Amino acid sequence: MRAFYHPDQSLHDPQQYMRFGRVVAPKDLPERTEQLLGALARHGITPERPGAHGVDPILAVHSEEFVRFLETLWERWVQLPERGPEAWPNTFPYWSGRVDEDMRPPCRPTGLMGQLGWFLGDLSVPVGEHCWTSTLRSAETAVSGADAVLAGERAVYALCRPSGHHARADRATGFCYINNTAVAAQRLRSKFGKVAILDVDAHHGDGTQQIFYRRSDVLTISVHADPVNYYPFFTGYADERGNGAGEGFNINLPLAHGAGGAEMEATVDRAGEAIRDFGAEALVIALGYDAHKDDPIGVLKLEASDFGTIGRQVKAMGLPTLVVQEGGYAIEAIGGCLDSFLTGFGA
Ligand SMILES: [Zn+2]
Repeated sequence: MRAFYHPDQSLHDPQQYMRFGRVVAPKDLPERTEQLLGALARHGITPERPGAHGVDPILAVHSEEFVRFLETLWERWVQLPERGPEAWPNTFPYWSGRVDEDMRPPCRPTGLMGQLGWFLGDLSVPVGEHCWTSTLRSAETAVSGADAVLAGERAVYALCRPSGHHARADRATGFCYINNTAVAAQRLRSKFGKVAILDVDAHHGDGTQQIFYRRSDVLTISVHADPVNYYPFFTGYADERGNGAGEGFNINLPLAHGAGGAEMEATVDRAGEAIRDFGAEALVIALGYDAHKDDPIGVLKLEASDFGTIGRQVKAMGLPTLVVQEGGYAIEAIGGCLDSFLTGFGA
């Protein structure tokens, strides 16, 4: 299996994260990439550097004002006379987060603090000096992975960091700034008429859902822990099925907290049936490992070997496949999870 990764992705080193009313150490540590690179090495896979694709593929799924905001945020932030170590919002607009509405109107505030509240949706997406560099490289890794699939590869792994699946068209949240999975799926549409996304990260892929919610050409399926008491809380319910032309093309398969490998396997089987019924011509797997039992912010109980089962199930779907890295924060466990996935996939 070919893989892509750019070392600049480990420059992003967030310093703050709000959890249970406290500012705590972040979970998306740069060391995550070392663990995943180690797993690739055990399979004899040396990742290639992605091309410099720039923001054009990103703008195919994100709003221009949002992308420009992220791109220029640091240089604006350092001009503030009194500032913390990272750009962080202290207001949030009253906005329902409803899934059946179009994208929000343009942001009215022109000042930095108003725009921070608008474009950064929670306190897990601080923006430091290197955030944009890593974010752009992460997206470019997904684009290069998609391009390899477009060129005829049957399976490619994009080692993306920061992750992407919580990023909406115009909002960063949940450790995610640009939605790498959505950028890649959109790229694949240049050749494949129907693209399916299967997200097995423990959190609902709310950004991916929002981006494709009104479309019938990209089927979005997310398997995740029940959001009723788990991030992202406000979306991820089974009755969110798409809207307008997209009605029926979004499938949420929430798992009860405490669910393990058997429940995941049965649910991924259901997802596989939907992908077949849809007639998908290409597949994007949003692969997170935070369903692992040792994940510090997890509520599911998968073993590393259960990711091998997922790999085997994905392989059996028989489609050109791009695997995009999402979350997974148990530093000691995630290398074994990727290892297991690759073994199951036969890579
Ligand atoms: Zn996650």
